Amino acid sequence: MDIVRDHKIIVIGSGPAGCTAALYLSRANLIPLVLEGLQPGGQLTITTDVENYPGFPQGILGPELMELMRKQAERFGAVFQFESVESVNVREHPFVIRTDRATYHCDALIIASGASAMQMGLPSEKELQGFGVSYCATCDGFFFKGKEIVVVGGGDSAMEEATFLTKFASKVTIVHRREELRASKIMQDRARANSKIEFIFNSTIDEIMGAKETGVTGIVLRNLVSGERRPMAVQGVFVAIGHTPNTAPYVNQLELDEKGYIITRHNSTATNIQGVFACGDVVDHTYRQAITAAGTGCMAALDCERWLTHERITERWGLEKGEEARV
Ligand code: NAP
Repeated sequence: MDIVRDHKIIVIGSGPAGCTAALYLSRANLIPLVLEGLQPGGQLTITTDVENYPGFPQGILGPELMELMRKQAERFGAVFQFESVESVNVREHPFVIRTDRATYHCDALIIASGASAMQMGLPSEKELQGFGVSYCATCDGFFFKGKEIVVVGGGDSAMEEATFLTKFASKVTIVHRREELRASKIMQDRARANSKIEFIFNSTIDEIMGAKETGVTGIVLRNLVSGERRPMAVQGVFVAIGHTPNTAPYVNQLELDEKGYIITRHNSTATNIQGVFACGDVVDHTYRQAITAAGTGCMAALDCERWLTHERITERWGLEKGEEARV
């Protein structure tokens, strides 16, 4: 049954951005409903040690950090619901949000829906997902004890995943499409110093071999310089080639950039629709850190609070005339 519920503010997403927005709103007595999404806690729940979040000199596990953030927001009243957003209508006000369980109306909306792992786009990759092809080393690494695996990508994620996977795998080969890695020096150095990790540069995966019954059995590598193709026996493929923003429900409603990230205005979290704010990885393809996501989550809560107090402030965020007729 479709139940309709009214809320003043809804936060979509429960990563560092969503949790921080919920904390600030709750402390301002604007108790939000947080729709957690399919991955409560966001991307940090599928990572291991977080060593660069200030305040934790010994580091902290990603899932633990997110549990603390959620509890801190709940302490001031924020309500978290394990529901996934299916569609959003911000063309009318109050805004309408449909989830897998109910329909909600709200006065203000904060979008903190984050980003998802990108795929290489091979049919065999899709077919063998969950059968040896993975996008999350911390989720699936355990299943590759004593096996040989490849990690695709040359960024920090690929280095981190590969390093983590050496806890289980007998050998990890990083396959990167260029000669130089994109990863930061410290992450590269860590991977290069690991005797279980090897690198194959200027190469891509043309095909993943295997079946659901057997799992992954190998890959076909292609050297992008020589064009040479060769098979390689592996039992696992971890894809770590970046992320894409979770903005499908907002296409043709909110202004998105060419990569699909939500565009915000003038050093604020305001979108092109009044009363809709966006923060975290759903707007950010530059920094993408837990701390920056938390920072913009705070900004979104403050922007939202100010907007609710002084509705129709159009100049502050430089909104066009036609865009103000929302409330
Ligand atoms: P990224 O920096 O965008 O790197 C993606 C990598 O995948 C690049 O090396 C790219 O190659 C490669 N790639 C992209 N599309 C590909 C395709 N279709 N086929 C093959 N290779 C492909 O993404 P990321 O590594 O996920 O990192 C994202 C952000 O999170 C970065 O700011 C990073 O610093 C941060 N991060 C930090 C940590 C940490 O500090 N602990 C851990 C993970 C991530 P090219 O280099 O040729 O473009």
